[in-house]
Amino acid sequence: MFVSENLSVNEKGNLTIGGADTVELAKEYGTPLYVMDEQLVRKNCRRFNESIRKFYGDKGRVHYASKAMSCMEMCRIVGSEGLGLDAVSIGELYTAVKAGFDVSKIGFHGNNKTDEELAYAVSIGVGHIIVDNISELHRLERIAKEQGKRPHIMFRIKPGIDAHTHDFVKTGQIDSKFGFALETGEAYEAVKEAVSCENVELYGLHCHIGSQIFDIDPFEEAAKVMLEFIAKIKNELDYEIQGLNLGGGFGIKYLNSHDPQPFEVFMERVSEVVKAECEKLNISRPFIYIEPGRSIAAPAGITLYTVGARKEIPNIRTYISVDGGMADSPRYILYKSEYEAVVANKANEERTEKVTIAGKCCESGDLIGENMPLQHAESGDIIAVCATGAYNYSMSSNYNRLQKPAVVFVNDGESRIAVKRETLDDIIRNDV
Ligand SMILES: *Cc1c(COP(=O)(O)O)cnc(C)c1O
Repeated sequence: MFVSENLSVNEKGNLTIGGADTVELAKEYGTPLYVMDEQLVRKNCRRFNESIRKFYGDKGRVHYASKAMSCMEMCRIVGSEGLGLDAVSIGELYTAVKAGFDVSKIGFHGNNKTDEELAYAVSIGVGHIIVDNISELHRLERIAKEQGKRPHIMFRIKPGIDAHTHDFVKTGQIDSKFGFALETGEAYEAVKEAVSCENVELYGLHCHIGSQIFDIDPFEEAAKVMLEFIAKIKNELDYEIQGLNLGGGFGIKYLNSHDPQPFEVFMERVSEVVKAECEKLNISRPFIYIEPGRSIAAPAGITLYTVGARKEIPNIRTYISVDGGMADSPRYILYKSEYEAVVANKANEERTEKVTIAGKCCESGDLIGENMPLQHAESGDIIAVCATGAYNYSMSSNYNRLQKPAVVFVNDGESRIAVKRETLDDIIRNDV
């Protein structure tokens, strides 16, 4: 009935998430409100963990891409499930460190890390630094030497796979700001340099081909391209690449019409390809990493709003305005992302209307969605937007000086605050 498995309707006709009544949550914590279901986060972590073990064995680890939803509580939960973590800024690193995350299981990403960020990552001893470009390699070498450390690095590689089209194509010319290009020889030259570096150890290679990808073929293709490169490095430079990170980007169900493959199928198919290619290329099986973000966090979360104005423009559309918008839900204005919405206090009723849910920010494009099937919504109703657990809180802003909403975690019907709602004084905290 609903797009995420953790949503249901209780005897009052109210939408529930993880057993908690969303109308009660809205009353207790106010709106807008981000709600995350701890049990579904854990279940998603376990499914990834179990499938990597089942299909690839012990030489594999799942890293949660924390940019999807980063706060200390999220770090604690994924850490307790045994996952590693990806961070792409000093802020995400700091959040994980303060949450007590095992830093040896953190991969540090980014296409333009600052010296401050590199120095911090080296000083806390992150597991891997994923080096994006040659100037970063040089800066990292200097920083590692200054600290008397020898960090493990991976190289971010552009495998030349275009995953945005359904029939993926190998791109001749790679246009991306991330990573070293393979076919120009840039990546090979960088590897040649890194294998003789005194102050860093080249441990692995990394690729990430995109996000919200439904098709498994491009992942298989990327794995093949990367393994061929590992074989070339072994054959020509006599150097063994030990780790291969295949990135994240697994598609999730935002609408009932979406039909992503289960992670298990992805893991099975990609594992088979890796094993077969290693045999064919005569290289040993690398330690494999995958980095799901959205697929762990998104289905576990919803955002709750209170309806204010209802504006019917005859023969054009009906606007339902809510007490948040692009500041807490930026994905529509960014990429016209679609979501399912439910009037939480009328969750048993039919969706009889198609409406535009609008935010309260001063931008005409500030919408939660258009043409959304919805129960008849009036002022005071609570609207739940589903599958918002990824890239909503983490992309939120203070546009129009809106206060960022609270994040609440629910667990079997019980709720607790993970991030407090910002106060008006938080809004002016850094103003002088
Ligand atoms: C964003 C990102 C991910 C996670 O992508 P999802 O679509 O959220 O699974 C993984 N790895 C890297 C390097 C990324 O940039």
